[in-house]
Amino acid sequence: MNLLFGTAGVPRSAKSQDTISGLRRIKELELDTMELEFVHGVRMSDDLAHQVNQTRQELGLHLTVHGPYFINLNAKEPAKVTASQQRIYDSARIGALCGAESVTFHAGFYLDSTPDKTFQNIKYNLGQITERLKKDNIKIILSPELSGKLSQFGSLEELIKLADEPNQIRLCIDFAHQHARTNGKFNTYDEFAGMLDAIKNGLGKEALTHLHIHTSGIKYSAKGEREHLELKDSDFNYKDLIKALKDYKAGGFLTCESPNLETDALLMKKEYENRR
Ligand SMILES: [Zn+2]
Repeated sequence: MNLLFGTAGVPRSAKSQDTISGLRRIKELELDTMELEFVHGVRMSDDLAHQVNQTRQELGLHLTVHGPYFINLNAKEPAKVTASQQRIYDSARIGALCGAESVTFHAGFYLDSTPDKTFQNIKYNLGQITERLKKDNIKIILSPELSGKLSQFGSLEELIKLADEPNQIRLCIDFAHQHARTNGKFNTYDEFAGMLDAIKNGLGKEALTHLHIHTSGIKYSAKGEREHLELKDSDFNYKDLIKALKDYKAGGFLTCESPNLETDALLMKKEYENRR
C-alpha cells in the first residue's frame, strides 16, 4: 500500500461540512484519504454510511475513523467500560459500512492502576470487542492511538505489545503525540527511524506497509500534549519524519490533525513527493 495523505475530518475549504462534500473536496485537492471524526459520538445513520461508501468508491478514496473521546477501557465502573466498548463497536460498524479500513481511539487512562494492570484490563476489554466484530463479520482494523499525555495509556511499547494481527488489532502511531509526551524529544530523523524500527522488530516488516499515522504541529508541556498547532507555528520536524517514512517505504494512512487540516496535509504530501 502507498502512503496516503488526508485530513482529520472534512477539509476546511469544503463547500459544506458534511462527509460527502468532504470527500469531494479531498478529491479536488488531490489528497487520498479522510478520517471520519466520530469524536463527539457516532451519529451517522446506516443509510448515510452507504451513500458515503458509494461516493468514496466513485472517487477512488480511502477512509479511516476516529472514535469518540469518551472512552476508557480501564474505567473502574463496569458500566463505563461497557459504554466505551459500545462506542468503539459502533465506530467500527458504521466505519466498515463507509468502507473505512482502520478505526483509531484513545484506549484509556491509567487512573490509579499500575501500567501493567492497565495493560491487562485494556487487552481484555478490547478482546471482547474484537470477538463481537468477528462474530458480526465486521472487517475493520482497531488501531489504539499513541497518546499525547502521560496520564493516558498508549506508549509506543504498550501499543506494539497490544497489537494482535489475527484479531484485527494494530496501532495508530501519532508522531506529534510522541514528541509531546516526551516534552520535545522524538524530533529527529534517527528518532523517527527508531520508532519505525520498533514497529518492524515488534510486528514484522509487513506492519510498515499499512500504518495508521497521525501527525500535526503540537504544543506541549512536561505533562505532554496541550493543543494541536499548524506546522509552521510548531517546532515539529515534519520534514525529517517524511524523509524517514519514505526511506522505510512506509505505507498506509497519514492523517493530518493540524487545525488547518488540508493545508498541512498538502504540505506533507508535497514534501513526500519531492523527496527521492
Ligand atoms: Zn486522537
